[in-house]
Amino acid sequence: MYDVIIIGGGPAGLAAANYCLHKRLEVLLIAPELGGKANYRMHLAGLEGYEHITGEEIVRTFRSRLQYLDFARVRDLAAKIEPIAGENYETFRVLTQKGKHYTTKAIILATGADPIRLHLPEEEHLLGRGVSYSAISHAPLFWEREAAVVGSTDLALRSAAELATVASRVLLIAPEGLPTKSALRRKLEQMENVTILERHVITGIHGNGYVNSITIQDPAGRKQETPVSGVFGELGLRPCSDLVKNLVELDEEGYVKVDDRCRTSRPGIFAAGDVTDTFGEQVLIALGEGAKAALAAFDYLLECEECEM
Ligand SMILES: Cc1cc2nc3c(=O)[nH]c(=O)nc-3n(C[C@H](O)[C@H](O)[C@H](O)COP(=O)(O)OP(=O)(O)OC[C@H]3O[C@@H](n4cnc5c(N)ncnc54)[C@H](O)[C@@H]3O)c2cc1C
Repeated sequence: MYDVIIIGGGPAGLAAANYCLHKRLEVLLIAPELGGKANYRMHLAGLEGYEHITGEEIVRTFRSRLQYLDFARVRDLAAKIEPIAGENYETFRVLTQKGKHYTTKAIILATGADPIRLHLPEEEHLLGRGVSYSAISHAPLFWEREAAVVGSTDLALRSAAELATVASRVLLIAPEGLPTKSALRRKLEQMENVTILERHVITGIHGNGYVNSITIQDPAGRKQETPVSGVFGELGLRPCSDLVKNLVELDEEGYVKVDDRCRTSRPGIFAAGDVTDTFGEQVLIALGEGAKAALAAFDYLLECEECEM
């Protein structure tokens, strides 16, 4: 029986695993790969020498340590979590896609969230070369460049507002229109470098190596190609919380609700990083949350009368 099973090998899972190992817990990390979305990086033409601390170095160190300690990790996908009733405390069985099962006293879920794609032909090819899903991460790189934001919600408004503080021009393409009573919308309408295109759609992203233009279609069906060096798909994130949807409380968007110690509504199940309702999808935040979840799981095991460590 493991003390802690960590599901997910991104920054949150890697930090949690390393903290658990430091506490000398019996730990297993289950993930198909190590690094998660910290493996993404944005490159733009002429952007050499831009320095920003993203946490990449820490992720690399944590990943190498776990690659070396191969008894603490398995390359697989968790497929199901089954609670096992105990006298006062539950334990858990984790079943995997490869047909294995492991038992544990506590779980840390760190499965992240996936951005909703635009589903355009060149999107995948130009991802990280002008195509982004995270203005929080990449807007500062668009200093005096032209960028488009695609989305119809508060998230798209927020991303356009952040970009407008640095970019020379921002096109906000809102296929389904935008919230009418938003203060942010009113502010964007006043900004000279922002153009709002409601009921327009993006039909193409173009570029040879880097994004250099997009095609926009107006409500009458007319298409026009416009130069931009970035496209931000801001349709939202889909939290990977299916594994626990019948076990712990989720918010209305499917994020796992956690308290300030990364505890979910079910004792023994902790969660960290982008899969949770914690603010800020960033590598540095996920690293901190993963460390916090490990400390909280450790305290849970210390207090648990039935748990031998
Ligand atoms: C395109 C893009 C660019 C970004 N750029 C930046 C940036 O420049 N700076 C920055 O700070 N942040 C950036 N971010 C955000 C950052 O990558 C995330 O906030 C961070 O990686 C979240 O870490 P996480 O560990 O919670 O989840 P993730 O990194 O998403 O990792 C989730 C892990 O869980 C695994 N997993 C999922 N389901 C299962 C399962 N059933 N069983 C086992 N394992 C599973 C996945 O394989 C993965 O290993 C970017 C995000 C995207 C999408």
